[in-house]
Amino acid sequence: MVLLSKRITSLLMILMLLFTFCGCDTDYLADTNNDIQVEVADNVVKDKSDTNKASEQESSSQSSGKPREDLEVEVAPGITSNYGLMRVHFIDVGQADSAFIELGNGQTMLIDAGRSGNASTIINYIKGLQYETIDYVVASHPHDDHIGGMATVLDSFNIGKMYMPKQAHTITAFTNMLDVIENKNIELYTAKAGTSILSSGIIDIDVLAPFADSDSNLNNVSAVVRITYGKTVMLFTGDAEKVIENQLLNSGVDADVLKVGHHGAGSASSSSFIKAVSPDVAVISVGEGNSYGHPHADTLAILNEVGADIYRTDEQGTVVVTADQNKKIRVDKKASTVKENAPPVVVPTPTEKIEDNQPSVSDNQSQVVYRTRTGKKYHRAGCSYLKSIIETTVSEAQAMGLGPCSRCNPPR
Ligand SMILES: [Zn+2]
Ligand SMILES: [Zn+2]
Repeated sequence: MVLLSKRITSLLMILMLLFTFCGCDTDYLADTNNDIQVEVADNVVKDKSDTNKASEQESSSQSSGKPREDLEVEVAPGITSNYGLMRVHFIDVGQADSAFIELGNGQTMLIDAGRSGNASTIINYIKGLQYETIDYVVASHPHDDHIGGMATVLDSFNIGKMYMPKQAHTITAFTNMLDVIENKNIELYTAKAGTSILSSGIIDIDVLAPFADSDSNLNNVSAVVRITYGKTVMLFTGDAEKVIENQLLNSGVDADVLKVGHHGAGSASSSSFIKAVSPDVAVISVGEGNSYGHPHADTLAILNEVGADIYRTDEQGTVVVTADQNKKIRVDKKASTVKENAPPVVVPTPTEKIEDNQPSVSDNQSQVVYRTRTGKKYHRAGCSYLKSIIETTVSEAQAMGLGPCSRCNPPR
């Protein structure tokens, strides 16, 4: 047996050498690339100069990474050996956004940095993973819940390149961020449809939106980022709303992992967009009991309809998604159960229209909801968060300072 296994080992080594010399690796890459290019629409024109710079950077800045230790996901056959697994950390920053990505090639990326109060959480988290360098930073759009912590975060790491839409803003978070970019001499690029952040053959990072430099609705200048890792695709949509989702339908949005737009709000996640993306894993970055009522019941319903496993930072905390290049994806938490979130079938208010997109406030004030003796939220009947039951109405509950429960999403 020993002799036989030695023979097999030698045979394998010879085969590997043959593969190396006949360039099979290169062929594999070319094939992978072709697969991916099919999905790139005509309007996604890659910026060659950026691409070249990114490739140079890629080969010169491997030092920022560390060896991967937790290779728990089995690497599928055919994967090139110098690339590990991609790992996305959707950091729990409450009602805000921040995703830190280990790209699998030793490089790292940060999309958004929460509010100013989240900066230390984000910094400690990334430093806890032993990184001192963030190779690519994206500030999706100049809203406080996305760039509030950016100045402090930029100040705390070596930064490679930074991308943000052209849209300026007057909030302190924005001006602070610009000050750090200037002081640290950070390479700054405009994020717009067609921008290529990295194009290495195995990892492509493309910006699919914004289509315009400015918009009266800042959510709609959100940088929408698509990461293609072999055959695995991840999509980060910032706070882009339905009008942008419609424009994106032909931009190759089919993805395995989706950072759900605008914290799960009803203003994003149109049915046609979610069907086009058809994610297996959908992550909603959202604060528990947020006053916006995010995520919207419609968002949860459509994600459920396309068969996505839904993860929410308000329920699962920080969510870590690990992926290989062949769509094998593992999430470190148990998915949220949409059935529990959905309104119960029997509700004591016959006037309630569950199908309504966004019932108007005045319609709901007299509807019956439920509160507990000490809780800060009010609920629908049957909500699993409802431990003791006191009947009340929406207006009474609101007058008491109670907010709508994020689990059962009662009328507001
Ligand atoms: Zn936001
Ligand atoms: Zn926003």
